[in-house]
Amino acid sequence: MVYKKIGIVLLFCCLFMEFSFAQAVRKVVIDAGHGGKDSGTVARTRKHQHEKVIALAIAKKVGHYIEKNFSDVEVIYTRTKDVYLTLNQRAKVANKADADLFISIHVDAVGSRSVSGASVYVLGLHRSEDNLKVAMRENAVMLQEEDYKTKYAGFDPKDAESYIIFSLMQNQYLNNSMTMASFVDKHLKTKTKRHTKGVKQAGFYVLREVGMPSVLIETGYITNSSDADYLCSATGQDKTAYAIYNAFRDYKSFVENHTTDLGKENMSQEKVTEATIGDDDTYFTIQLAYSGKNLTENDPYFKGLSPIFKYKKGNGYRYTYGRTKSYTKALSLQQEARAKISDAYLVGFHQGELNMASVVRTILNGK
Ligand SMILES: [Zn+2]
Repeated sequence: MVYKKIGIVLLFCCLFMEFSFAQAVRKVVIDAGHGGKDSGTVARTRKHQHEKVIALAIAKKVGHYIEKNFSDVEVIYTRTKDVYLTLNQRAKVANKADADLFISIHVDAVGSRSVSGASVYVLGLHRSEDNLKVAMRENAVMLQEEDYKTKYAGFDPKDAESYIIFSLMQNQYLNNSMTMASFVDKHLKTKTKRHTKGVKQAGFYVLREVGMPSVLIETGYITNSSDADYLCSATGQDKTAYAIYNAFRDYKSFVENHTTDLGKENMSQEKVTEATIGDDDTYFTIQLAYSGKNLTENDPYFKGLSPIFKYKKGNGYRYTYGRTKSYTKALSLQQEARAKISDAYLVGFHQGELNMASVVRTILNGK
């Protein structure tokens, strides 16, 4: 009888472990872009102001805010001085530390002086030529290394075809990276009260090499006089750093308190609206909420998102937004949903069972 009870307890524990996991954020790597012989972008009117200087100033301030407010977090810098580091060396610092988050800080540049605003990037295939150009410019630092083609396994930062690999890549950290990126964008908007350009994806080599959730922040355009003035000022650097720190705080809280139930479950499903993808199909969808209440699609909670799908689970319902077989489409659905419900996240279904998006992606790619 005692054994039977232990068996039941163990079974319950196993089920619980399968259904939920929470992570801690204890180590963060802050990567000030460029350094030493690599100045990064340079202001047109302020020739002495280099991207490497601005990035380092902001990076140190972000680290200072985190250290001051979180005694349980270790801040690791890729550089604290004006020294040159290769992209591989930056990734090595983060991977060796086994960090929980990687934040890379940069300043953008473009031909037109009127373009302004900060952008936040996560790793992925670019969806516009402009995004590709930013990744090409940031990756071009590898050209300063001798024999870069061998060191970077044939990757050519100037060749658009090299970037196709980013469409084939499995990125298990994408959900968390997107979460952090959304927080950065939100706080840059509210804390700096400046125009931001949102969350984007592109093939940044350094983000590909780090084995953890990661974002690359282009804090504004050095080619725009208003952005350059702001980013060169102590106030601008401080407000930008404070925004990034706030994003870190929200991300840490989100990851540590958000116990996601991504295990496989058998569920009876009920559709609120019709869709072409059937219940037993394999698809991605965006989880919005789990609630004991039986809600309709018009409920104010969904903020106009449509179509909403409802799945009976235990004594309540799981609500999701949209269905698609395309991973790229799923990411844009997630972005849309998060603009309205900030903790919405990507999940997948296969034959009526809830799965991690990465699992469903593998199944869909394998077909
Ligand atoms: Zn840069």
